[in-house]
Amino acid sequence: MRWSKYFIPTLREDPADAEVVSHKLLLRAGIVRQLSAGIYSYLPLGQRIALKVMQILREEMNRIGGQEFYLPALHPAEVWQESGRWSAIGDDMFRLKDRKGADMCLGMTHEEVFTTIARNEIRSYKQLPQVWYQIQIKFRDEPRPKSGLMRLRTFIMKDAYTFDVDREGLGRAFLDQREAYKRIFTRCGIEFSIVEASSGSMGGSESNEFVAKTPAGEDLIASCSNCGYAANVEKATSRLPKIEDEAGPDAPEEFPTPGVRTIEDLTTFPGGAVADRQIKTLVYMMEKPTVGTLLPMLILLRGDHQLHEIKLSDSLGGATARPAHPEEIREVLGASAGSLGAVGARERAKRATYEHSIEGGGTQTLIKYPEILIIADEGLRGRRNMTTGANKDDHHVRGVDIERDVEVDKWADLRTVNSGEACPRCDSGTLEVYKAMEVGHIFKLGTKYSETMGATVLTEEGKPVPIVMGSYGIGVERIISAAVEQNYDTDGIIWPKSIAPFDVIVTVTNMKDEKLREAGEKLYENLTRAGLDVLLDDRDERAGVKFKDADLIGIPFRITIGKKIGDGVVELFNRKAKKSEDVRLDEIVSRVLMLAKSEV
Ligand code: ATP
Ligand code: MG
Repeated sequence: MRWSKYFIPTLREDPADAEVVSHKLLLRAGIVRQLSAGIYSYLPLGQRIALKVMQILREEMNRIGGQEFYLPALHPAEVWQESGRWSAIGDDMFRLKDRKGADMCLGMTHEEVFTTIARNEIRSYKQLPQVWYQIQIKFRDEPRPKSGLMRLRTFIMKDAYTFDVDREGLGRAFLDQREAYKRIFTRCGIEFSIVEASSGSMGGSESNEFVAKTPAGEDLIASCSNCGYAANVEKATSRLPKIEDEAGPDAPEEFPTPGVRTIEDLTTFPGGAVADRQIKTLVYMMEKPTVGTLLPMLILLRGDHQLHEIKLSDSLGGATARPAHPEEIREVLGASAGSLGAVGARERAKRATYEHSIEGGGTQTLIKYPEILIIADEGLRGRRNMTTGANKDDHHVRGVDIERDVEVDKWADLRTVNSGEACPRCDSGTLEVYKAMEVGHIFKLGTKYSETMGATVLTEEGKPVPIVMGSYGIGVERIISAAVEQNYDTDGIIWPKSIAPFDVIVTVTNMKDEKLREAGEKLYENLTRAGLDVLLDDRDERAGVKFKDADLIGIPFRITIGKKIGDGVVELFNRKAKKSEDVRLDEIVSRVLMLAKSEV
């Protein structure tokens, strides 16, 4: 490619609305342009990068026996209704109607469509296992599209699906994918960790996220450098030092605490308690299926611990709950936040009543919240002599023995882990919590889709069983963003060799100099003939401008053709190492070939 004819609109300045590094650099290097929020066009350089990423995805999927499909992006509502996700997924799904008024949607993922094919075509265990994949566009109306290519509303995904007759087969398929993912990210020059994750709306039991560490990431990962434990904070736990509680009174004692509103206030209040000897009480509301009825939930945590809402949702089997409004809290517990507690809460909640008119006249008094749910964090197990709110403004109770005095309905891990806490897996490690970006996700789906959609096979014994499935996704744009976030400097992008738009750039310092121009053309031809992707900077620009642009777009190697050409010498510049060396013209092709094609 000749730069003079190639479309690379580089920008000198950082675009005003771009915040994260990859967003700025992808725009400045003329790789992508925004069309609308979360919707981007790939310019020629971007398309070259995306194709290289997709080629790696294909090679690694094919290597584990994957068969490439190409499924439609436009789906009839029926298949999503069958799986139950038409109603389970909210506004993230782009929905539309066809000219006949039938409901349609744009695919967010393809479990439903692949399962439809499996259901219609696969009858016997003899046809299994199958490993199917595609590289295709996805649509998601993300609430907060941002950070350039990191969270898009339309993006390219490699999604794979495996079909097995039993869980053992799924286990093998999952491990194959896991190994393929490791090779993919390594080949793309991305430093990654594999973490345990929450499965969200996908359903299924086991899932692993592949994450790339970067301050631009939206996920928080807790990991231990001692033993390699790593988990999304949505799931991560830590080991708490054991606390020995002194025996308390036989029953909780109420005491006045005027002005005390927070955990912190109570730590300094005379007769109060340190944070880890307090029980924090949060009130959440869960909408029950019957419209208008609400189930109040009391969430109990140690005073110095923070709730993680995803853990709460997971403990409720994926249901969502919201924090109660101050009026609701007062109705349920009779006090304001700051004086709440679970001791006697059930009886207290029954005091909220309302008048219900009876058919034929008259009214009846009904209890507004006949039941409440008390969920306690594991960190409170066995704790005694604790202090908590008394459900009476400006009052607390002390001497609370959680197992004696509170009727806990459910114990769950609800607490957010923090850097510096002890690793839950090994004896001596401590956790570090850092920001990362999810680049891939592998799920053991099990039979969620095959059961709801009726995809069954006959076993060797002739028994019909639902196919056991897995689903595995990688975002092409996430790979591109992560590669930039992890590989750049003040001058621009430093593409990993495997996905660089060009292997090498030949920069002719002065196009007006006949000798230099001819040498450049000749070298361009020779490098191309050797199988390299070459960009010839044949623009009529000053050398300084050309060097700056080459650094910005991040081509791994630059060959500069300048004055030394008279001695048969060119300069070879390594973008990553930022080092130059003189190389003889007759050796340069083999030299670059060797460097460009070597592993990462
Ligand atoms: P996230 O938690 O970041 O929203 P997700 O869990 O919704 O991701 P999956 O449904 O597992 O993602 O999709 C598989 C892969 O597709 C992700 O690992 C990611 O690489 C990519 N991906 C998902 N959503 C987006 C998006 N909005 N923009 C770009 N890539 C995405
Ligand atoms: Mg998502």
